[in-house]
Amino acid sequence: MGTVIRDATAILMDAATGSTPVTRSLRVDGGRITRIAPEVRTEDGDTVIDGRNRLVCPGFVNAHTHSWEYLAKGRYDNLPLELWMLYSYPILGARPLPPDLVRLRSLLFAVESLKNGVTTLVDDVLETPGQDFAQLDAVFDAYETAGVRANISGHIINRPFVDTLPYVPDLLPADLLAEVRALPVPTTADYLGFSAEAFARYRDRAGGRLRYMLAPSGPQRCTDDLLAGATELADAHGAECHVHVLETKTQAVTGREFYGTTLVEHLRRIGALSPRTTLAHGIWVTDRDVEILAENRVSVSHNPLSNLKLGSGIAPWRRYHDARVTLGLGSDGCSSSDTPRLHEVIKSAALLHKVTDPDPDRWSSADEVLRAATLGGARSAQLDAEIGSLEEGKRADLLIYDLDTLAFAPWNRPDLHLVYSENGSSLRTVMIDGEVIVRDGRVTGVDESALLAELRERLPEIRRDQDDLDRRNAAFHEPFEAMYRRCAAENVGVNRWAG
Ligand SMILES: [Zn+2]
Repeated sequence: MGTVIRDATAILMDAATGSTPVTRSLRVDGGRITRIAPEVRTEDGDTVIDGRNRLVCPGFVNAHTHSWEYLAKGRYDNLPLELWMLYSYPILGARPLPPDLVRLRSLLFAVESLKNGVTTLVDDVLETPGQDFAQLDAVFDAYETAGVRANISGHIINRPFVDTLPYVPDLLPADLLAEVRALPVPTTADYLGFSAEAFARYRDRAGGRLRYMLAPSGPQRCTDDLLAGATELADAHGAECHVHVLETKTQAVTGREFYGTTLVEHLRRIGALSPRTTLAHGIWVTDRDVEILAENRVSVSHNPLSNLKLGSGIAPWRRYHDARVTLGLGSDGCSSSDTPRLHEVIKSAALLHKVTDPDPDRWSSADEVLRAATLGGARSAQLDAEIGSLEEGKRADLLIYDLDTLAFAPWNRPDLHLVYSENGSSLRTVMIDGEVIVRDGRVTGVDESALLAELRERLPEIRRDQDDLDRRNAAFHEPFEAMYRRCAAENVGVNRWAG
């Protein structure tokens, strides 16, 4: 007994047809796609879906996000990364979020993602002041309930935060500097031990749908032994190792000030680049950095919405393609973009790179962004053997859109409508591992209204804590802004700002 989708318009993302729409029927059995052909026979007991006036495509991979920022969505504006982090990743005064709120936060995030066609999350989860297994269990439990596929970290910063930024120790008042440096930071052994236990604890979770991943925050925020150790542990477990690199110009200055080289070159020297490494952002890279990433078969997750909102700069999309670096697309966290909806990311990626070069041959295309949103993201997540395209033998993670909608009228090229005209409102069915997770636009395993009601009830407590953190961490604002402006004025050899 399986499911047959008959005579659909399909974007397969396979080697033969790529993103070119074709007419196909698909059979799904036991969680996998077992047949794709112009015609597929049905058997007794099959569920048959009429695919006429429907578009079928692979589920989207959100290749870089932070579910833990969900509660700060719509809270901040016009802050560059280093100032925004003061409030979204508070240095002082953070109290551990109770697991029931972690679960609520994760479920809300999963529901909004699923309803927008995201079937796989690369969720880099940080908890302040530190993560414990009760909190991480709550994320895994929430995603098991919601039915989404995910790589879930393990995010770690193991240096005092004031020592992860150039010039800051000289700019901060001595008492504040001493207070931050006195805060405990985890050791490399703490993190690698936690991660080894996490691999054992979550092995085959939800039939292998949920996996632990390593996530050292960045080469300036973690010690060399932690970065190299995390890379090694990821290789040993076939898992993704997810690292933020060169998101901002400040970080380009940081590489020079801390290591006398670029942060990419530093990662290479310490043995922290592998085909299992994904760099989040990779904006302020040099041409040589791009070569190094290609040589080491490192993937890059591109986050155009977040990069625009935080004023971080424009990633060199065409240079990455020319060097054949695998690109995925991410929404980044809900406090920097402020949405987990991948349709908005897809459209912005297709648009942004058309204003960086007068030569239209070097612009981003609908085909490229669809590839990044599916196969590229799957490759970066170490999951391309299982998902990312609709092919016989792969997991049945797929989306079914209604073409009888205004977004797809007047039915020109469905691939272009999908990228430029559709925002997720025509999405009717989301299937993961062959299970229908979204039916008629609603997530089947979760009561969305009950979640929103629970959030309303908890809001006074959440707001009180957020306001308190904002007040305490505002003490850093002025010195951090001075650091930001000083870095912005320096010459780092590349310019990723427009205008
Ligand atoms: Zn991030």
